[in-house]
Amino acid sequence: MRPVEKKKPGDTVEFKTSMNERVKHTVRKHYKPYGDAKEPLAANIGMFCSYCEEPRGLADLHIEHIQPKSRKGAEYDWDNFLLSCSMCNTCKNDAEVNLETTHFPHLDNTYLDFIYEESGRVRVNPNLPVEEYKKAENLYNLVKMGRDPFGEEAASKRDFRWKGRYETWNLAKRFLEKYESGNLTVDDIIEIADKLGHWSVWFTVFKEHDEVRKNLIEHTSGTCTTCFDENNHYEPVCRERKV
Ligand SMILES: [Zn+2]
Repeated sequence: MRPVEKKKPGDTVEFKTSMNERVKHTVRKHYKPYGDAKEPLAANIGMFCSYCEEPRGLADLHIEHIQPKSRKGAEYDWDNFLLSCSMCNTCKNDAEVNLETTHFPHLDNTYLDFIYEESGRVRVNPNLPVEEYKKAENLYNLVKMGRDPFGEEAASKRDFRWKGRYETWNLAKRFLEKYESGNLTVDDIIEIADKLGHWSVWFTVFKEHDEVRKNLIEHTSGTCTTCFDENNHYEPVCRERKV
């Protein structure tokens, strides 16, 4: 799961309005109605579900209340927002969230938390220290990342997130061959990855190519740049939470 760096109230984001005008927007502490936060948030962290990384148009992206509205989550607070698809939003539902015991992509290095597999399956990284493993697992369970045909939790007949990862992996592998034979450039890969989403799949499949990894980090809006070590093939590193 791509770790992101959310802007703080007072920071500036730039986006095109629905009238195709470029506007600079200063992030506010509160958005009422909260839907007004969608454009600035998408400009900040990209038009993808923050959890499953599927690409979505603005109309199909939901403002995700990290702490649910029904659980005294701050309904209008920028700090309580991420973006999600309807499936991740439904999976998470109104479950109470303990931020202390659950990892989140805007606070932790969630790329380190999970292993993406060719089958479309995602597993919690077994190499994490016990405490970190539990926090990653809590996130995994919160958005039901284990729903696939291979794991312990059967895939829902309506939930095809695993299939999106599987299909993207297969395409990424084909593009990897073309890239290695000189038929595609880094820019081509970044453009395709941006359209197809599933950032973590691309980052995993192109693990032998530092220049692709570097560009995936730099050109996907809001990716946490300090979560990856440029001196070690952009492998993920621990992220300290800011207080
Ligand atoms: Zn999602």
